[in-house]
Amino acid sequence: MTASKETPGPNGWAPVPDYDAIIIGAGISGLYQLYRLRELGLRARVFEAGTGVGGTWYWNRYPGARFDSESYSYSYSFSKELLEEWNWSEHFAGQPETLRYLNHVADKFDLCRDIQFRSRVAEARYRDAPHGWDVTLEDGSRHRARFLITAVGPLSAPTMPRIEGVGTFQGEAYHTARWPHAPVSFAGKRVAVIGTGATGVQTIQEVAKTAGHLTVFQRTPNWCPPLHNSKIDAAEMATIKAGYPQMFKRCLETFACFLHTPDPRGTFEVSDEEREAFFEKLYATPGFGIWQGNFRDILTDRRANAAITDFVARKIRQRVKDPKVAEKLIPKNHGFGTRRVPMETKYYEVYNQPNVRLVDINETPIERITAHGLTTGGIETAEYEFDIIIYATGFDAITGSFDRIDIRGVGGRLLKDKWKNGLETYLGVLVEGFPNMLMLMGPHTALGNIPRSIEYNVDWVTGLVRHARAQNLTCVEATEAGVASWTDHVKSVGEGLLSNEVNSWMTGINSNVAGKQTRMIARYSGSAPAYRARCDEVAAKGYGELRLA
Ligand code: NAP
Repeated sequence: MTASKETPGPNGWAPVPDYDAIIIGAGISGLYQLYRLRELGLRARVFEAGTGVGGTWYWNRYPGARFDSESYSYSYSFSKELLEEWNWSEHFAGQPETLRYLNHVADKFDLCRDIQFRSRVAEARYRDAPHGWDVTLEDGSRHRARFLITAVGPLSAPTMPRIEGVGTFQGEAYHTARWPHAPVSFAGKRVAVIGTGATGVQTIQEVAKTAGHLTVFQRTPNWCPPLHNSKIDAAEMATIKAGYPQMFKRCLETFACFLHTPDPRGTFEVSDEEREAFFEKLYATPGFGIWQGNFRDILTDRRANAAITDFVARKIRQRVKDPKVAEKLIPKNHGFGTRRVPMETKYYEVYNQPNVRLVDINETPIERITAHGLTTGGIETAEYEFDIIIYATGFDAITGSFDRIDIRGVGGRLLKDKWKNGLETYLGVLVEGFPNMLMLMGPHTALGNIPRSIEYNVDWVTGLVRHARAQNLTCVEATEAGVASWTDHVKSVGEGLLSNEVNSWMTGINSNVAGKQTRMIARYSGSAPAYRARCDEVAAKGYGELRLA
């Protein structure tokens, strides 16, 4: 326990109650932030709702959960020793391995002694004297800190569908992001999956292997390219380790911190044959290459996007035997890559199995969940009975985890209210009127390959805290001008991107959450190097764009 009330801060920093910083969440960002603050000699406390570390990888234990980006590119890069001692078993590791990795990190750096588990933060209130935050947990206990650092994750507030009768089902019902720790057997069972995003796709292809019968309820199909996962043996892992410095350097140079970078050619600068051959090559390449390493214009030029869209549609038609089912699996309302592409392993072949049925709920909407299953209406009224219903219905993304905490800044202003008519941030890290609140992976930051973005975000926040301590500052706050300029910039870099014209969690849409039916620019969609350059500039100039006191 590191608490010690009203003690002088390090280097004569003005006294603070309880902690120098409270961090909400012990996922990838919270763990690393704790490590960095400890290096500064600060007293930090992490409050984590779960019973263990890992965040996303703690909660999302659903069958088939695994990386869509290369395991090694997802590792923390800050410790050479950690990189040397950890071996990944697959190019795209499964959730159990990733959770083992994050536990290994927590053990290695003895992080758990400053983490309080089973502790969900209910309220956070800014106070002026002394500057800091009062934090109340769901159990009613109160804590104080100079800084409040949110490490709540952009995809960690799960949402259930707004369908009548949810909760009345008497069989087993699971949301994928609240999956039980004990194994769930599907053998011989009648299983329903609702939702076909990245999570639904991974779940469906796994559950279909053993379920007695699987019914998939699909509202919007997605463009799913093959993952092409494979094992990593000792020799290959040694080669990967030898190449870590170059690999991490490359990740910092690419647009979204992935290993893949767009081909400099335009889609129509090559012949039809060359284009087709390039698409074939990408379709056969492991990971996000077909999305992130495609022709430079596929996500901005409608004609270019139509070319890759047509290519992937042809693949789906080739792989799904029943042409009617294939057509249902082909997205009609968005082009390839304009939503996050779910990576798949024999996903389309699942629909060739006799024990799997696809229900398009645009034709036959789910009317209600019943005690024994669900009923559909529309062109075909039907009653389905199930033993298990799996909700792969996603998250109240980006702002959802903030909305679920009563966060109040200067004058008691609720953060949720402040953002009601549009997100406003400074570098995605600070909010005007919420001094000393620092967000990791908050709205308006560059997401991409998440751990790469997290490491930068945490290091920047740590630099700001270090500066505050060195200058004996007790209050750091974004200015209105700084917020206006950053928010305008985020909007302008999003212009022309086809993904911002499509409904998805990336544009702030969630049909299951009141008030989230209008698109917004929720994330920074410029390049990660440009994002870092801007943040570096602010730090290099002594954080003069902030209000410091
Ligand atoms: P999602 O992409 O938001 O998908 C949710 C699915 O549920 C969609 O198909 C949605 O349909 C459907 N749905 C929601 N409400 C519904 C309702 N009331 N009735 C019927 N269907 C409904 O969520 P997700 O699949 O959990 O993925 C979210 C993100 O998490 C991904 O995009 C990715 O960034 C991340 N993720 C990463 C990995 C990985 O790295 N391996 C794996 C899984 C997820 P509509 O599309 O029509 O709304």
